[in-house]
Amino acid sequence: MAHCYVHIPFCRERCPYCDFFLVPGTRLMEPFFDALLQETEARLCEFGSEPVGSIHFGGGTPSLAGPRRIGRWLALFSDRVEIKGDAEITLEANPEDCRKHVMGEFRTLGINRVSLGVQSFSGRKLERLGRKHTPDEACQVMQEMLGLFGNVSLDLICGVPDEDMDEWHADLEAAISLQPHHISVYMLTVEAGTKLQREIHWGRCTGPDEGFQAEAYLLAVERLTQEGFMHYEVSNFARPGYFSRYNSGSWRREPYIGLGPSAHTLLKDGSGERRKANVASLVRYISAPHDASTGYELLTPEERQTEEVFLSLRLGEGIALQQLQVIHRQRAQWLEGMLEKFMLEGFLEIRRGRVRLTPRGFLFSDHITQTLLPS
Ligand code: SF4
Repeated sequence: MAHCYVHIPFCRERCPYCDFFLVPGTRLMEPFFDALLQETEARLCEFGSEPVGSIHFGGGTPSLAGPRRIGRWLALFSDRVEIKGDAEITLEANPEDCRKHVMGEFRTLGINRVSLGVQSFSGRKLERLGRKHTPDEACQVMQEMLGLFGNVSLDLICGVPDEDMDEWHADLEAAISLQPHHISVYMLTVEAGTKLQREIHWGRCTGPDEGFQAEAYLLAVERLTQEGFMHYEVSNFARPGYFSRYNSGSWRREPYIGLGPSAHTLLKDGSGERRKANVASLVRYISAPHDASTGYELLTPEERQTEEVFLSLRLGEGIALQQLQVIHRQRAQWLEGMLEKFMLEGFLEIRRGRVRLTPRGFLFSDHITQTLLPS
């Protein structure tokens, strides 16, 4: 099944911790959409004959584009590409932009899943994160979105400077009490070039405490799974039947086509698997949308295997033991020893022929994955 990602690179302001490709303000929204329509037209042939199983409007804050522009893109796309009848069509949105009647218009256009950047229900944390909504607004908007859409996700961030376990616990309980279908839990990271990094460098605030984040992550896994959420990816929890189809598809390396600046594409055909990335420059994108990408790169078998191991071990379902045995067939004993070591440390388990990281293992997933990559 193929998927489509549309990157809409605008936010009202850049949050202090964010290093995504985006520009603050919406002045270039109209020329951007003209370019997006041109790029889409030019790349329709890449979608082939297989119906598209999901469309994800990400960003940035795609809801800032408004129903008129999103509707214009959907009209072009659905006219020329077959979309599965039950396709998941997600719009990322921030609570301060979710006016009920506007979101109702998005629903009429076919948006059937909303992913809300709530981040926290603590006024102190929201202020620290530079977010523009209040805890009350987040709760009210969540309730309204749950009334409008049959599939609502919310994001939480953990490890904000000076956060303690009571504050994190309260965030988890508030999220659970709203009964969303899906919750993403992200640990705050300090990205190069961000305002947060500069503030830490100048001593104006402390960086995230890894020990605290590890404990907080395990608490999130415990509470959310107790409440019936499935821990289906390192940072993602969903009620049965509500896994994000777009994200699951990309983690399982199903083909996806990314439109918009900085978006990535993975195509599979008779000649193999090919990746490409669009330019991370709005000016270049708007001035030459037909020429937005860096060109396709054919993946070598080693690159494919590396991606498979790396992405599969992020998932709750893990990777087939047999697949690891094929990858490491030249050093079968070494693999057995490594798996045994990680199992004894409580980082990994093998069930029904699949190697899966435990919640504690997810805390060390970079190290474990790095070890199990093809040599
Ligand atoms: S709203 Fe989201 S995408 Fe936009 S700047 Fe903040 S964190 Fe980044």
